[in-house]
Amino acid sequence: MNAPKQYPLLLVRQLNVNYPLPGRLPWHAPLQLKAVEGVNFDLEPGETLGVVGESGCGKSTLARALVGLQPAASGAVILNGKDITRLDDQARRQVRRDIQLVFQDPLASLDPRMTVGEIVSEPLENLCPELSADERKARITDMLERVGLRADYINRYPHEFSGGQCQRVGIARALVVRPKVLVCDEAVSALDVSIRAQIVELLQELQKEMGLGLIFIAHDLAVVRQISHKVMVMYLGRIMEQAPVDDLFAQPLHPYTKALMSAVPVPDPHIERNRERIILEGELPSPAEPPSGCLFRTRCHYAHDRCARDIPNLRLIKPSRSGAACHYAEEIERAGS
Ligand code: SF4
Repeated sequence: MNAPKQYPLLLVRQLNVNYPLPGRLPWHAPLQLKAVEGVNFDLEPGETLGVVGESGCGKSTLARALVGLQPAASGAVILNGKDITRLDDQARRQVRRDIQLVFQDPLASLDPRMTVGEIVSEPLENLCPELSADERKARITDMLERVGLRADYINRYPHEFSGGQCQRVGIARALVVRPKVLVCDEAVSALDVSIRAQIVELLQELQKEMGLGLIFIAHDLAVVRQISHKVMVMYLGRIMEQAPVDDLFAQPLHPYTKALMSAVPVPDPHIERNRERIILEGELPSPAEPPSGCLFRTRCHYAHDRCARDIPNLRLIKPSRSGAACHYAEEIERAGS
């Protein structure tokens, strides 16, 4: 008899998410804006995948699609061996326990009319109806303490807290149902640097304690480097590069990743003064009218004729452990550019 197939905690295959747009003229058929296209990755318990890219690259749409807030046009999101992209409401409620989202703006994501106790209790009432009132209360106070908030904050309102404390409430709300995967969509971007460091440390501690798989979406590459085990670089909804975190920061392979990395400050003032910056020229093209061929070609210093014609697939660039979607990754690397 064949052994049952072993799935990672989260397996994403060929995920596509589209937004409908009106046609150019009233009698034209509606268009499809490809917000996420052909995304693939795996995630194991205790592992963090960092997702980076400029605003508008599809990171937040990906987050929303993973937790079921945005329907997928095609592809699969397999959580614990079960495809969660096409579930009815009843089945979706069950899987929502297992995959939770933390939002960017801590204050805006909390209902100002609800106390902290009510905010953290809400997902428990919806997703864990089997718990008694006493069990719910015990879970809430335990969770508040685990995220570094006093249990007696339960009767306070969000406006009584700082941004960092509100984000701790947001994390408590997401983790109180004991999910297996936590998706953090720019969860520390709105916080001051010192508070940001505290929240990142808190997430790392909770991840270790609970064995969470973490998807950490951010534009701050220093934070992504600190928290991630592997990183995915997105541009106009597609993956440009995917690599273990140390490899990506030591040797970025895709021209877009190289440009992003060259903007990260280096602590050594001598290196910082002498290193070359790659300036990304022009704006991110409109996802409604993406360039032909390679999506990055309109801003790429290395673009050739072929780049306007053929879409580069994400492929392993040997001998590295990184995958890059560039026809000329090896040549660019050999030239030491
Ligand atoms: Fe640049 Fe061409 Fe590579 Fe795209 S495929 S990143 S345009 S060299």
